[in-house]
Amino acid sequence: MKIRTRFAPSPTGKMHVGNLRSALYEYLIAKHSGGDFIIRIEDTDQERFLEGATEIIFNTLKQAGLEYDEGPGREGKFGPYVQSERKALGIYRKYAEELIKKGEAYYCFCAKTEKRGTDPLENAKDSPIEANVYDKKCLSLTKEAIEKNLAAGIPYVIRQNNPRTGTTTFHDELYGDITVENTELDDMILLKSDGFPTYNFANVVDDHLMEITHVVRGNEYLSSSPKYNRLYEAFGWQVPIYVHLPLITDTEHKKLSKRSGHSSFEDLLGQGFIPEAIVNFIALLGWSPESNQEIFSLTDLVNTFDYKRISKAPSVFDIGKLRWLNGEYIKMMELEKFYQLALPHLKQAIRKPLDLRKIAEMVKTRIELWSDIPALVDFFEELPEYDIAMYTHKKMKTNRDSALAVLEAILPVLAAIDDYSNDTLYEAVIDFVNQNEFKNGYVMWPIRTAVSGKQMTPAGATEIMEILGKEESLKRIRKGIEILA
Ligand code: GLU
Repeated sequence: MKIRTRFAPSPTGKMHVGNLRSALYEYLIAKHSGGDFIIRIEDTDQERFLEGATEIIFNTLKQAGLEYDEGPGREGKFGPYVQSERKALGIYRKYAEELIKKGEAYYCFCAKTEKRGTDPLENAKDSPIEANVYDKKCLSLTKEAIEKNLAAGIPYVIRQNNPRTGTTTFHDELYGDITVENTELDDMILLKSDGFPTYNFANVVDDHLMEITHVVRGNEYLSSSPKYNRLYEAFGWQVPIYVHLPLITDTEHKKLSKRSGHSSFEDLLGQGFIPEAIVNFIALLGWSPESNQEIFSLTDLVNTFDYKRISKAPSVFDIGKLRWLNGEYIKMMELEKFYQLALPHLKQAIRKPLDLRKIAEMVKTRIELWSDIPALVDFFEELPEYDIAMYTHKKMKTNRDSALAVLEAILPVLAAIDDYSNDTLYEAVIDFVNQNEFKNGYVMWPIRTAVSGKQMTPAGATEIMEILGKEESLKRIRKGIEILA
């Protein structure tokens, strides 16, 4: 059996992290065993349809590297892959009518407002679940009454006819067998009064027609799955393998919401996370490998992914972990690419004609996000106001007096040098250290403080001086002497 998975998004807005996770897992399940990954656009809910949302879906898939085998723009033999186009072909109506013939569905002419009736036979009043279940009023309509209503053009829906006794069981790969009382199964609407199928119906019909073998989706669909199962049974179709994914929560264990500010792929890109890191992070939201490897390229994921290792426990979206991963991806990035991507952020802080390529090299291993760059390099542009307490460093055994003495003594040494390359400067400072039998840090610390005005810098004293050049470096050292004195 060839594995066929599908990602079936509804174009209703941004690409939520949970949706991208479903897409990724579907992709991985298919690719792990040489199967097909299909995209199907579920746009049957005209009220929730959002202009531009389909583009967002395809852009996201592309940036995440999830190439699909069949879908819009890549027609296979199961197309079209957009449900509104399938609806126009009459596919869903045909299957809904087939169910009516089998007695598994029926016309319902109740207006929306009266659809939630109370069924006197079932004394529904006391049960919150049953009060939410349609009372099957229209099931008792005679053939003649139905034909009369249809001929009169009275709006109608087609409903699933579920039994009200017994139980229905279905199997989920992670949650096991789940059994529900049939009294809980609403006669859900299959075809709406506007002629469009509901998600519930179109999804089942298409999964069957497209020969989908594995259905992966958020566990908010778990409770509806018995009804889907009953549809498969009614048609005599094979039920796919279900994998319902755990909830994604924030670090406070609340469902990840828009308010978190990072619930969608676009939000994360906007915050400067790189697509590969986001994909790696999302893969680990619920799934874990056998080893404790944490960095996975998409190819690594394809090779390693096993859906049996997905946890049922809610997955915590820890932005700190994503930041860390992003930093690892930045470290691995090729220097030239890094430089190009870092450039706008460097320019944000630096306007002077300094060697930005060298500065980029300095910060590459020290950032987690692009937005970390400006604050890390702004001292190159201008020496910040700084506290002279910074000259005191316990481990380096420096204090204000020693720093003043060192800066005063090194100033003529540095002033005598013309070649302000890191190598020459470093050699000169080390000679000075050796002549005076100091420790390196005893001399380097005050110099670095004076030229940067920062406790932490992306590079050492002489590398910073190389970038600043002779004039600016000496000016900053003189300034240090002045404030220390
Ligand atoms: N259209 C549904 C959604 O976007 C698909 C759910 C499913 O994968 O079955 O949530």
